Amino acid sequence: MIDASTGTARLLEGGPIAAEIRVAVAEDVERFTRDQGRPPGLAVVIIGRDAPSTVYLEQILRGCAKVGIDARFVELEGEATESAVVDVIRNLNADRAIDGVIVQMPLPPAIRLRTVIDAIDPAKDIDGIHPLNAGLLRLGYDGFLPATAHAAVEILRRSGIEIAGKDALVIGRSAVVGMPAAFLLVKEDATVTVAHSRTRDLPGKIGRADIVVVAAGHAGLVSGDMLKKGAVVVDVGINVVDGRIRGDVDFESARRVASAITPVPGGVGPLTNALLLTHLIRAAERQAAAR
Ligand code: NAP
Repeated sequence: MIDASTGTARLLEGGPIAAEIRVAVAEDVERFTRDQGRPPGLAVVIIGRDAPSTVYLEQILRGCAKVGIDARFVELEGEATESAVVDVIRNLNADRAIDGVIVQMPLPPAIRLRTVIDAIDPAKDIDGIHPLNAGLLRLGYDGFLPATAHAAVEILRRSGIEIAGKDALVIGRSAVVGMPAAFLLVKEDATVTVAHSRTRDLPGKIGRADIVVVAAGHAGLVSGDMLKKGAVVVDVGINVVDGRIRGDVDFESARRVASAITPVPGGVGPLTNALLLTHLIRAAERQAAAR
């Protein structure tokens, strides 16, 4: 609902929700560590330390340390071959102290994404990139969800935003964000349209949507004048503009029309990291139960 005192949208902040999740994760980690005699383990495979995503991965490591998860970088040099990367992943698959594996993206050009994805044990694929987990999501079964897409929908659920029956528009159709967010919204009983760079009349589609999830990687793509009055806006985009982090939505104009909106930074991002920890705990518990 629009805040009557300011005439602007309710802010859907990820930080407080992430903090709640971390408290629950810390309890789960403590129980797992007591029962199994070791903490849950996460391996982050990085290929070339200077890649831009290293900062994001370091944040994940710090988040793990805070709740007692044993997380570590497994580093390969930037010129590593595809078979060297696959060997490292296979060793981690076989390592009983490692419950989850994530691989730094984007990969160097010489390494094929599909080869790396296929090498990850689906049981340790806590960021839901393996085809088995993507297929489970597509069929509406429980698998590992890509954490960002999970966060984009979870922020709505945990903020008490009604999804069932609503017209939702997802802008972006990537395998890691747009498509899984769309499938999750369908699972929550929304009626979903997926837009992409070839979509015709994007402003018209935005103007008809009750919920707009924007994951295009294009700063300012969506502005307030395009939105339906009272729409709910989830901004997944991360863009650096003039040295500052910006979303895909022009926040200032959108907040005057939307009923609720996620800020960037501080919306989907913090929740993504916290949810990834919940995926790790689930992976650890499932593997322990299967042994
Ligand atoms: P991606 O693989 O580049 O996909 C972008 C998608 O947006 C594509 O489907 C593309 O269409 C579509 N698109 C691009 N420009 C468009 C336009 N002008 N109109 C309509 N559709 C357009 O990116 P991604 O990995 O999905 O990431 C999307 C955004 O989320 C990026 O800003 C990324 O930095 C951010 N992100 C955020 C988090 C987080 O935790 N908050 C995590 C990961 C990514 P085509 O398919 O036709 O090319």
